[in-house]
Amino acid sequence: MKSKKFASVNKDICVSCGACTGECMLGAITTPNGCYAVVDTDKCVGCGRCSMICPTGCISIKDRIGA
Ligand code: SF4
Ligand code: SF4
Repeated sequence: MKSKKFASVNKDICVSCGACTGECMLGAITTPNGCYAVVDTDKCVGCGRCSMICPTGCISIKDRIGA
C-alpha cells in the first residue's frame, strides 16, 4: 500500500545540488538530468526528509489523491 503523501519538486527552483538525494533512505529522489530533482512516487513515502534539507525550498509534501 502506498503512503498517503509524496514529495513534489518545483523544477523551476531546483538547482540540482543533490542534497536531497543523500537524505532519502529509499533512493526515491534523484537528479538524473543534472537540471532538477525527480521523485519516484512509487518509492517515496512522503517522510519529508528531503524537503527539510533542500536549500531552495523547492520540495513540497503533497497528499496523494484517493490514497
Ligand atoms: S536539495 Fe532541493 S535544490 Fe537540491 S537537488 Fe534536491 S530538490 Fe533540487
Ligand atoms: S519525502 Fe522521504 S521518501 Fe520521499 S523522496 Fe523525500 S526523503 Fe525520500
